[in-house]
Amino acid sequence: MMTDHPTVFLHTYGCQMNVYDSELVGSLLTTDGFRLVSHPEAAQVILINTCAVRDHAEQRVLGRLNALGTLKRRRPGLLIGVLGCMAQRLGEELKNRAPAVDLVLGPDAYRRLPGLLRERLVSGATAAFCAGDPGETYGDVAPARGEGVNAFVAIMRGCNNFCTYCIVPYARGRERSRPPGELLDEIRRAVENGFHEITLLGQNVNSYRWDETDFSALLDRVAQIPGLRRLRFMTSHPRDLGERLIERLAGGGAICPSLHLPAQSGSDRVLEQMNRGYTRAQYLDKVRRLRERVPGLALTTDLLCGFPTESEADFEATLELMREAAFDDAFTFKYSPRPGTRAAKMKDDVPEAVKLQRLERMIALAREQADASRQRLLGETAEVLLEHPSPRDESEWTGRTRCGRVALAPGSFQRGAEVRIRVEAIRGFSLWGKPAAPNT
Ligand code: SF4
Repeated sequence: MMTDHPTVFLHTYGCQMNVYDSELVGSLLTTDGFRLVSHPEAAQVILINTCAVRDHAEQRVLGRLNALGTLKRRRPGLLIGVLGCMAQRLGEELKNRAPAVDLVLGPDAYRRLPGLLRERLVSGATAAFCAGDPGETYGDVAPARGEGVNAFVAIMRGCNNFCTYCIVPYARGRERSRPPGELLDEIRRAVENGFHEITLLGQNVNSYRWDETDFSALLDRVAQIPGLRRLRFMTSHPRDLGERLIERLAGGGAICPSLHLPAQSGSDRVLEQMNRGYTRAQYLDKVRRLRERVPGLALTTDLLCGFPTESEADFEATLELMREAAFDDAFTFKYSPRPGTRAAKMKDDVPEAVKLQRLERMIALAREQADASRQRLLGETAEVLLEHPSPRDESEWTGRTRCGRVALAPGSFQRGAEVRIRVEAIRGFSLWGKPAAPNT
């Protein structure tokens, strides 16, 4: 039955870009009179925003959709929509895999969502797939953010790089940047609403360009916004990371000394097969220059093992690159073919057991490096931007340091307070220390 303000539960899988897209979807729906709810039981519509980067992520979504199919049999009027990269990749086929699904919308089709939902709520129209407008940037849509201090802002959408294993250019289309004026307005509004930390998002932020404004120039302008305390960005492509960006990271101010720089492999042969556009030596040279110029830099990465033809020697080269780069943290994955990509046409010839064993070795080394990175901070001071009471112990607040590490401080604070702590202990994955006088 159609009510004045139909209720929607929106669940997000995947990366920061998907979180941002869900905020856009929330905004489009609430502007049209829909009401977002925090439990699926209360919702007339359940939307799942999906990721297609790995087979594992898609299998999780299919499991969830099967469970929702059971719910729909009990509540036949329930509408189920699938959004995002998996929706774009599978299109109409998703209906065959998950028959309970009513709507399938790719990342460039969200403007059509309120209208399509209303049509279905009124008439029970049949399922639809919508791919959307490949030039879409949602520049006029103000994201519906919850409470917090960290806001994501997508400066561009899509990717032109076509790394051979990656589905993103097919699911999210070609690169298109948003105009700087529009971005500066969005960020100013976010800062005025208490989001003191802004993370600029793009599949490859280094290729941002609008007329004469490249990414470094955009950073300069954003960093000057009054009230903005911290500025981060992700993801940077190692091929495109140049001196000017290293200078910005070294310059301090609002720009935080943290960088996510996906290496993917330490083997030149595998990097070439992946179409990454850099060699191991070039990657490590950039790391060396970053470490020299940006004191206290927190450097994180993505690594992929088990790519077609990866030999034991190739894999050892990846472990060796990890050691040389001394990452502060790493996100590690095993290769799974993504249909439609160039790598999917290669023979997936690394046995699953070998992939798993290599993944475990990468995870072990990444953990060791992350632990060592935290241990190095014992006794150091760190500025923590506090976000909320710790879910585990409400007598402490949790937040992030300028390097992006999670930290805990005992006491009661206001959201957005910035305190200086001396790191006295490591609790799990968090730094812990008593605050000195608050900065704000
Ligand atoms: S840079 Fe490569 S891995 Fe990253 S989104 Fe683009 S194609 Fe995918």
